[in-house]
Amino acid sequence: MTAVVEIDGLLKTYRRRGRRHRALAGFTMTVEQGQVHGFLGPNGSGKTTTLRALLGLIQADGGAMRMFGRLVPGALPDVVGRVGAVVENPRFFPGFTGRDTLRLLADAGGVPPGRVDAKLELVGLADRARDRVRTYSLGMRQRLAVASALLKDPELVILDEPANGLDPAGIREMRQLMRDLADGGTTVLFSSHLLAEVQQVCDAVTIIAGGRRVAAGPVEDVLASHTEDAVRVRLA
Ligand code: ATP
Repeated sequence: MTAVVEIDGLLKTYRRRGRRHRALAGFTMTVEQGQVHGFLGPNGSGKTTTLRALLGLIQADGGAMRMFGRLVPGALPDVVGRVGAVVENPRFFPGFTGRDTLRLLADAGGVPPGRVDAKLELVGLADRARDRVRTYSLGMRQRLAVASALLKDPELVILDEPANGLDPAGIREMRQLMRDLADGGTTVLFSSHLLAEVQQVCDAVTIIAGGRRVAAGPVEDVLASHTEDAVRVRLA
């Protein structure tokens, strides 16, 4: 197995109104190529901080991170074209159609326009591509955001809480999309605080609590050794 993401001993302390708050206390995680990897933990456990540090959006205080074997953030310019990410609430022009939105982003990113329709198809938006984004549900906007992250044909896709705020149908569609991506050879790393979501879609999981890894491994192994109740308690 090849590790696509390796995080070792990550540290991050925020300073808030003069007080120090330790968000990551030596967090460690490995994501293997071609898998859907669920990054699971309760609110405030450090998931977003980890993903933002990995993508160079914030600076960690210590530890080592690698993507595709290259140390990041130092080597980010060399690997950034191989990574697609949605780590913030996507903001789109509501008056644009889904297709025009992606065309604009493709143009800005130097991506051939011919790729736009394939990505809309992949995320299940082909039949709504000519409708304005203002008519899209939250789930459809999330999938449009994933489509934008896929424009460069990344080998790794990182999604922060992709199911957040979605209704059950939206969650199912997002789950299917992540599965389809992995089946097509793309590695997917996504965060969640919903155990059910992780169980059904993941090959492997890492559980974080209080800025530390509390469990990791193939999803069946982790759930077998951490009974559902125990995981639920951790996630409460
Ligand atoms: P959620 O699911 O709520 O997004 P999370 O697991 O992603 O949670 P983080 O957002 O990484 O967790 O937050 C970890 C801790 O760091 C929390 O206690 C949070 O309040 C704190 N924190 C996050 N961002 C900042 C910031 N910019 N300034 C100060 N504290 C922060």
